Amino acid sequence: MQEKWDKRPFIISGPCSAETEQQMIETAIRLAKTGKVDVLRAGIWKPRTKPGMFEGNGIIALPWLLSAKKITGLPTTIEVATAMHVEEAMKFEVDILWIGARTTVNPFSVQELANALRGVKIPVFIKNPINPDIELWSGSIERLQQVGIEQLGMIHRGFSAYGNTEFRNAPMWHLPIEMKRRYPNMPLICDPSHICGDRILLQSIAQKSIDLDFDGLMLESHIDPDNAWSDAKQQVTPDRLMELLNALTWRHGNSSEQEFITALATLREQIDQLDDELITLMGQRMKLSDKIGAYKKDNNITILQTRRWNDILESAFKKGEQLGLSNEFIIRYLDAVHLESIQHQNKVMNT
Ligand code: PEP
Ligand code: MN
Repeated sequence: MQEKWDKRPFIISGPCSAETEQQMIETAIRLAKTGKVDVLRAGIWKPRTKPGMFEGNGIIALPWLLSAKKITGLPTTIEVATAMHVEEAMKFEVDILWIGARTTVNPFSVQELANALRGVKIPVFIKNPINPDIELWSGSIERLQQVGIEQLGMIHRGFSAYGNTEFRNAPMWHLPIEMKRRYPNMPLICDPSHICGDRILLQSIAQKSIDLDFDGLMLESHIDPDNAWSDAKQQVTPDRLMELLNALTWRHGNSSEQEFITALATLREQIDQLDDELITLMGQRMKLSDKIGAYKKDNNITILQTRRWNDILESAFKKGEQLGLSNEFIIRYLDAVHLESIQHQNKVMNT
């Protein structure tokens, strides 16, 4: 297990749900044949949004997974959400556990799992919570660390929001990137299936995660995706999975090529210099805001001047276009600057 765990890229695949013994075993055999899959996944208990949907077969599906493991030699992983799930998973020799997004949000549930895992030696992957709150994600990691789980990993499966359109769960890449910064030695893998919600999008999201130096992928695969009992639109056949994996370009986290290292160091030097100047300029800009705040206070004028704000945006869009900066970036950047400026003026005016 140890060497597989360290393998890069680390590929987990299998159906969203274990539906029947035959489906489970056939999927496993076909996935093993690709030679690309390290661990077999399957949902045993499914957290579904509405009652009446297929909620997994539960305990009766665990022997199917064990048979699939014995036949193919692939280690297995399942989602656990309660202490009972952990106990049953251990009985059926599941090799890796994962905590689902709907569980990571709930500290009571995560603590229940942590208590059940005290003294157990098993790797655990933790999916991000469904809402974009990385403190909850971190908190779950800490709860498992506290009970002595040493092999921990993270799975990025996107974040749900009202009105998500392009993706089922918005990737918000800056959040997993921040987790990677906090836990540089912890494997971070991407689950394009639940981010995309549609098999058409899988390839580009998988590649994007690799370009961001993720350590592996969890992808749902089913022998007959269109007739899957859950998450039909996002699953792919084992053959399609193999094509998808073959089409990915795996990049190196680093290079020992001297020329490359020197070129990169030079460019980074310049970037650091510019970043430093930008922060200095920002400080100067806020000093001006403070002065304006003082004038507004003396003259009893509101902080927010909508027309002025529109003028600033308009001219920034124009300039940004010439320099190859997207409108989206300009808005996000100026919003942040504006907010900081308002806070400065608020302080001047109300103290
Ligand atoms: C799953 O992996 O099938 C699943 C339910 O995922 P998530 O917890 O990311 O929704
Ligand atoms: Mn699923």
